[in-house]
Amino acid sequence: MKYFRPTILLTFIILLSCSVSHAWTGKVVGISDGDTIKVLHEGKQVKVRLYGVDTPEKAQSFGQKAKKFTANFAANKIVDVEPIDIDRYGRTVGLVNVYGKSLNKELVRAGYAWVYRQYCKESFCSEWLKIEDIARKANAGLWIEPNPMPPWEWRKAKNGASKSTPALLGGQGMTYHGNISSHVFHRPSCKQYDCKNCIHPFTNRNDAIQAGYKPCGICKP
Ligand SMILES: [Zn+2]
Repeated sequence: MKYFRPTILLTFIILLSCSVSHAWTGKVVGISDGDTIKVLHEGKQVKVRLYGVDTPEKAQSFGQKAKKFTANFAANKIVDVEPIDIDRYGRTVGLVNVYGKSLNKELVRAGYAWVYRQYCKESFCSEWLKIEDIARKANAGLWIEPNPMPPWEWRKAKNGASKSTPALLGGQGMTYHGNISSHVFHRPSCKQYDCKNCIHPFTNRNDAIQAGYKPCGICKP
């Protein structure tokens, strides 16, 4: 028993140093768009894609405002970058903190970013979804529009569904299609599955319901 506590303490210290050691600090030297910044680190420019959020594309409404928000928040500042992943373009995907405040989260709070449901898988993502919901109800930022299109849908529509869908879904296969206008989702067997507005893919029922979509009364997904 005497040696039990120090062992636990040591384990904590090791775990803590492991999770902290990956984080690094740098100066923001460029804003590519709302969710992508350039950070100068050890003499090199590192492109950082903000984890778990997706801001409107430049050509979408609020794309420029999202970029401006990120610029006001982080341009020329010293930031802490906590990498979580590397995306398929080789970019660092991570959390960016400015004076202890999370840029990722503040973008969602201000209504300039959607929580990127497909990729936000950390424990804090459910909190971010709640923050997004509050922004949505308050008509903050992009939520002033009645039916804003998620940037991932916008990109999909622009690139052509057949080309970009497998990459977007990470090969998981698409189970349901949500109608972005009526917010009803359908099974592949449903007549409505590929309707004009049925362009929001969901890989599972829970994601659809969490995103505010209702199951279709005919195909009963
Ligand atoms: Zn249906």
